Amino acid sequence: MARYTGPVCRLCRREGEKLFLKGDRCHTPKCAIERRGDRGGPGARGLSRRRATEFAVQLREKQKARRLYGVLERQFRRYFKRAGRGAGSRGERLLQELELRADNVVYRMGFALSRAQARQLINHGHIVLNGRKHTIPSATLKVGDNVQVREKSRRIEAIAGALTRADAMGRPEWVHVTPDEFSGVVTALPERDHIDATVNEQLIVEFYSR
Ligand code: SF4
Repeated sequence: MARYTGPVCRLCRREGEKLFLKGDRCHTPKCAIERRGDRGGPGARGLSRRRATEFAVQLREKQKARRLYGVLERQFRRYFKRAGRGAGSRGERLLQELELRADNVVYRMGFALSRAQARQLINHGHIVLNGRKHTIPSATLKVGDNVQVREKSRRIEAIAGALTRADAMGRPEWVHVTPDEFSGVVTALPERDHIDATVNEQLIVEFYSR
């Protein structure tokens, strides 16, 4: 399945909540959800009068998580499969897999205003992982990995803007960032309490376990 290239605000409207896919704009009154409110999806004239089935609820939760992290179905299934290994909650491990994607880490560290922007920075070679140029947004990072903005890229306005926002809003506890050096380290595995995604991971586990 190809990557979605249509209007991203449509994805938020489909899920009926803000997924923060557009960076700065998401924090302004220009946000489509703020302006139009939740009307039950793009094109809908109001919330469906039919009650959602259990399957529909689980499906929507899975789609929401995919859209939030910008992951294709096949990749998402792969994460779910990997999350099945080891002990503990599979749902939490799924979220951990998603959080540790390189693009998400760059976003969480505050080098980008959105995951899409982080993906672009990585694709364009602006990010250095453990001292080497890194161009794979889907790579899974581990504790101790060091992420840096390439020296030549530190003047990019979007990165400076993102750092300023992150300094003001705060960062998750599982990363440590030194803004002056455009550098950050993954210090721990992200635990559920430190993941602010509004996703009910249990519904996703139920969806794939049918
Ligand atoms: Fe979603 Fe951001 Fe668009 Fe608002 S501005 S609808 S949060 S992508």
